[in-house]
Amino acid sequence: MVKKSRSVSIETSALIKDFQLPGGELVNVLTGVDMKIKRGEFIGIMGPSGSGKSTLLNILATLELITDGEVKVAGVDLKNTKYKDRLRIRRTKSSVVFQNFALIPYLTAKENVKLPMKLRGITEKEAEKKSIDFLEIVGLYARVDHLPEELSGGEQQRVAVARALAHDPDIIYADEPTGNLDTHTGKEIIQLFKKLTKEKKITIIMVTHDTLSARETDRLYILQKGKVLQEQTQSLVEKDSKKEEKQ
Ligand code: ADP
Ligand code: MG
Repeated sequence: MVKKSRSVSIETSALIKDFQLPGGELVNVLTGVDMKIKRGEFIGIMGPSGSGKSTLLNILATLELITDGEVKVAGVDLKNTKYKDRLRIRRTKSSVVFQNFALIPYLTAKENVKLPMKLRGITEKEAEKKSIDFLEIVGLYARVDHLPEELSGGEQQRVAVARALAHDPDIIYADEPTGNLDTHTGKEIIQLFKKLTKEKKITIIMVTHDTLSARETDRLYILQKGKVLQEQTQSLVEKDSKKEEKQ
């Protein structure tokens, strides 16, 4: 497939995002973000609360418009696209995994995963088969007919990842995906993300507060004063070992 052969997945240049508050006051959230992300990279985004991490992810996921600068996602310039085209990119290039899983409570795991495929017009028979395949990839083959409330937090997040795969995405955006999980379950989700980037060449951009999760990424962007600093994941490992030496 042509769309899978692109080596650059996301590129932003001098990206600016302001919010206008109801009183007229302007909030400068992103003041010049430059990023270049290759296909299949596992990218971490860190930064203090309120630094604009979710805003950045929402922009890349086409859920939010930019104020100025350039953003290209999967080869498409998001600044100069019509709503219809942004919607198409949202449905066919990317998917989002949330901290609170955001599953539909009255649908089973399998039905939750089938839903995006049905919306894309995939036949019932194919959606049925694929939903089971995706649940198998995330290690939930034995839970396909369970409702979300009958699953643990980690299992629910796995269903959400299977549902993300049902979009056949080039890119998965994950906003603090392990924020509601215990350390062990969080680690399992991170390992699943690693597998998807390496084996399926899906690009994953993950916002996280957790240095243990961040250490598993290929590369990190740290948001500070509306800009991003690039940091190699390796430096986190070094910082942690220095801390240990001091103790
Ligand atoms: P983070 O995810 O890093 O905690 P956010 O991206 O959620 O940060 O928010 C960054 C800043 O932008 C915050 O100060 C927040 O209040 C502001 N903000 C986010 N969304 C809006 C909005 N729709 N209108 C006005 N301000 C917003
Ligand atoms: Mg956030």
